[in-house]
Amino acid sequence: MSNVLVTGGAGFIGSHMTYALLDRGDEVTVLDNLATGVRSLVAQQADFIEGDVADAGLVRDILRGRKIDAVIHFAGSVVVPESVADPLKYYGNNTAATRDLLEACIAERIGRFVFSSTAAVYGMPDETIVTEETPTAPINPYGRSKLMTEWMLRDIAKAHPFRFVALRYFNVAGADPAGRTGQSTPRATHLIKRACQAALGRAPALDIFGTDFSTPDGTGVRDYIHISDLIAAHLKALDALANGAESDVYNCGYGRGLSVREIVQAVERVAGIKVPTREGPRRPGDPAMLVADSGKLKRTLGWTPQHGDIDEIVKSAFEWERRLA
Ligand code: UDP
Repeated sequence: MSNVLVTGGAGFIGSHMTYALLDRGDEVTVLDNLATGVRSLVAQQADFIEGDVADAGLVRDILRGRKIDAVIHFAGSVVVPESVADPLKYYGNNTAATRDLLEACIAERIGRFVFSSTAAVYGMPDETIVTEETPTAPINPYGRSKLMTEWMLRDIAKAHPFRFVALRYFNVAGADPAGRTGQSTPRATHLIKRACQAALGRAPALDIFGTDFSTPDGTGVRDYIHISDLIAAHLKALDALANGAESDVYNCGYGRGLSVREIVQAVERVAGIKVPTREGPRRPGDPAMLVADSGKLKRTLGWTPQHGDIDEIVKSAFEWERRLA
């Protein structure tokens, strides 16, 4: 059993992580400033603290007072176009705040850290399938803010008795199969959620951002990963660190790309409702295609994905969306 601090535990991914840790008997403290998180998504058995990861005094008190063994760091901002419009928000919430969190972790001798990174660190890769060796060349402030954090982690791991795993998420979607939590940000910008909202008549139409990409049907292609498989990767990472694994970086995806139009079709199949769409220009900062080679995660951490079927992903997202008032 471990004592785990989950930052951003009131958010989409963090709230699923909290349930998964509790389900297997770990103790969880959630630290979230509720900027985008939702208090009611935090599992009741977790200790919840409203506060900021950049508040070094608070973080040090938590780490010491609760005898935290490991930190999983989700707190941050995640919307690519917003990062283009407001880069300082991203360098503040993602890079600078993580620096402060890490300073507190080093001061309190935390040795295990799992970081939520992103496929956006690759930018517009030349390869169609991206490995961890693909050069990092982010094309937007969001990706750069996360890559800078990865660099900090590498440097810290060389200088201190500190090990980390950075997980580079591709497109995380779906919801807890037990229906306990899901994507709840009211103004969420992510495709599957938006498409579900359009199917339910909660938005007039789904905007398709760009139909002239160099992809088979002209729309953006992404590797959508079920939240349950993503969370399983975090548990593997946490256990590997506990067993002495070296610091490393892993892609989290399935290795299969789906276009915006294919997602629309999946939502229509699952919901049995036509999704009204509206074709428009590309969003700033969007690459044509991002698909993961996740061989390293499978080989090194023993990750076995179980929920890759796109209809299963969309179904859990749609069911959660339907239940939101
Ligand atoms: N997208 C879209 N309409 C939307 C939201 C997203 O066409 O309302 C497209 C977007 O341009 C990209 C893909 O869907 O090609 C995934 O975008 P999302 O925002 O879900 O994740 P990102 O890949 O930007 O992290």
